[in-house]
Amino acid sequence: MAQNYDVIIIGAGPAGIFTALELADTGASVLIVEKGLDIRERAALNQDRSAPAEDRRTNLVSGWGGAGAFSDGKLTLTTEYGGNLDDYISKGALSRLISYVDRVYCRYGGANRKIYGDEYREKLHELKRRAAAADLAFIPARIRHLGTDVNSQILAHMREALPASVRVLCRTAVDEILVEDGKAAGIRIGKDIYRSRYVVAAPGREGAEWLLKEAERLGLRTTSNAVDIGVRVESPAEVYEPITDICYESKLIYYSRRFDDRVRTFCMNPYGFVVAENNDGLQTVNGHSYAHKKSANTNFAVLVSKQFTEPFKEPIAYGKYIASLANMLGGGPIVQRLGDLQDGRRSTEERIRRGLVHPTMPGATPGDLSLVLPYRFLTSIMEMLEALDKIAPGANSRHTLLYGVEVKFYSSRMDLSYELETKIPNLFAIGDGAGITRGLAQASAAGVIVGREICAREGKPKGDIE
Ligand SMILES: Cc1cc2nc3c(=O)[nH]c(=O)nc-3n(C[C@H](O)[C@H](O)[C@H](O)COP(=O)(O)OP(=O)(O)OC[C@H]3O[C@@H](n4cnc5c(N)ncnc54)[C@H](O)[C@@H]3O)c2cc1C
Repeated sequence: MAQNYDVIIIGAGPAGIFTALELADTGASVLIVEKGLDIRERAALNQDRSAPAEDRRTNLVSGWGGAGAFSDGKLTLTTEYGGNLDDYISKGALSRLISYVDRVYCRYGGANRKIYGDEYREKLHELKRRAAAADLAFIPARIRHLGTDVNSQILAHMREALPASVRVLCRTAVDEILVEDGKAAGIRIGKDIYRSRYVVAAPGREGAEWLLKEAERLGLRTTSNAVDIGVRVESPAEVYEPITDICYESKLIYYSRRFDDRVRTFCMNPYGFVVAENNDGLQTVNGHSYAHKKSANTNFAVLVSKQFTEPFKEPIAYGKYIASLANMLGGGPIVQRLGDLQDGRRSTEERIRRGLVHPTMPGATPGDLSLVLPYRFLTSIMEMLEALDKIAPGANSRHTLLYGVEVKFYSSRMDLSYELETKIPNLFAIGDGAGITRGLAQASAAGVIVGREICAREGKPKGDIE
């Protein structure tokens, strides 16, 4: 196998794939190295219930298509969701880029899939107006719902469409990025050296730790991202129908009066279920909703974003510590009625039983979240519920259930230019692993930015994206 290429891409998630797609028709020789399986093997392993649990877990986030390849593939077409690319390009340019990414997904098989968020324009406007009066920013999302089957077909079509100039090496992890004369020079895999003029690191969340270590070794600066800590809220589904009846997914943002901290809703599940999530042995909470199985409740997260300043650099350790307090007190997640929290007492089995909201998560221990969450977080969460009550009356009911804790960790952020290039010329870092995106659309868009930048530097500009 050849060991000299124009471009080497590390990771075959959406960021890596879209970089390759941009380069595919230029004749540039490209090598994509992916530590997981190729898409067909991946799909087969996903169906194989007898395969070892660890292989199945790794396969869920690793391989051609990257993380979320087996999810129901919600392509978020709104710039306010799924990443921070608007820190590098204007919102207008990002919007055009996301539309372009959507057209590419359509070209490979997603064209007939429905877009949610274009209906009910008048009702959405009215909701926005009422939210603004309650100090809330209401951001409805436009989403193309690809669906699990179509999502993996699209990934397979993209794989098959690559010309011979693009080689894919699966089941192979890159060990090191090589730098010579101050420029990117290739990669090392075991004892083998592969040379290239450009290296694009797109290793996703799965490879974020590896990328961080490589950044340290190469003297590249990274900054800690914010950590989001909060609770999962559960109320009767009717309370949130004014919102959930008119949009598939939305975000409400609030800045707390007491601390000016950013508080947001996340992942709303109408008629859904609260579930425990295992985070490296720590029990945190999350929520789901099913197509056919319905509960009487709606759940969603209320998260407070905390960006720590110097000298503290360990937001992930901080978030895990808070989660461990809930585990220490409750032996797992804790559930509390909002009224008990307001009255400064723990919830008990008896009080939960007498409540008007019946918990959908059976294993949570009735307890006291004020012993777990710092005052700053708790105050901001309670202010948010008061604000929500103005657009969804009942949100701040004494019977509302709060489950704790929910924590969202993000990869450290690489220090990048507007072209997503590191301080080492010709070494680019993109996608979730570089800490700049959090979803399919923006990860793909990051790949387009870098693919086009390389084309331009090679004298093969592709023109503006319209
Ligand atoms: C269960 C689940 C469901 C999701 N659903 C959605 C959704 O509906 N909508 C949405 O917008 N987002 C969703 N996401 C998030 C979305 O999948 C990610 O934001 C996106 O995949 C990030 O793309 P990426 O290319 O940066 O990284 P990834 O997709 O993570 O791909 C990175 C790839 O790099 C490989 N890699 C890592 N290190 C190395 C190495 N050293 N050498 C070689 N290869 C390496 C990994 O194996 C991986 O395949 C979901 C995520 C999960 C986990």
